[in-house]
Amino acid sequence: MSYFDKLRPWTHIERCVCPQRTRLVLVDALTDNPIHCFECRKEVDAQLLELDEHTVDQLASWFHSFKALYALWLNSGEYEAYAKVRLLDANGQVNLEGMAIASKMSNLRRTYYWWFHDSDDGVPTHCPNCAAPLDGELKFGTGKCDVCNVVM
Ligand SMILES: [Zn+2]
Ligand SMILES: [Zn+2]
Repeated sequence: MSYFDKLRPWTHIERCVCPQRTRLVLVDALTDNPIHCFECRKEVDAQLLELDEHTVDQLASWFHSFKALYALWLNSGEYEAYAKVRLLDANGQVNLEGMAIASKMSNLRRTYYWWFHDSDDGVPTHCPNCAAPLDGELKFGTGKCDVCNVVM
């Protein structure tokens, strides 16, 4: 087992085969790996990106927290409201960590952070981080903010 296995699925998944991977997105698509291709939305292996062990550890740690909060929110019981507040908080730990990793990975290739949104709250129009209007030039999602590297 290598450290990359922390982010690898145990079952076969569809990997991105785009010739160029210029943009990525960190998103919980209910799989074991949060790194996805921005263009085709399929998974990209951490080793292929030559991520160092520290970054992979950071990703695994953030993803673990994100998945836990997301599961609590989906659970719809007494944890739902708590989890939603944590997932929406621009200064909350899960978003600060996710944004920090996306920002670091963006030094090599632009990496967006998929921000949680409850569809019960309508269609998002503004960036949850800087409040600028979202740009709708994207295939997957409602809009993105190129200043914050946020996608919703
Ligand atoms: Zn792709
Ligand atoms: Zn923004």
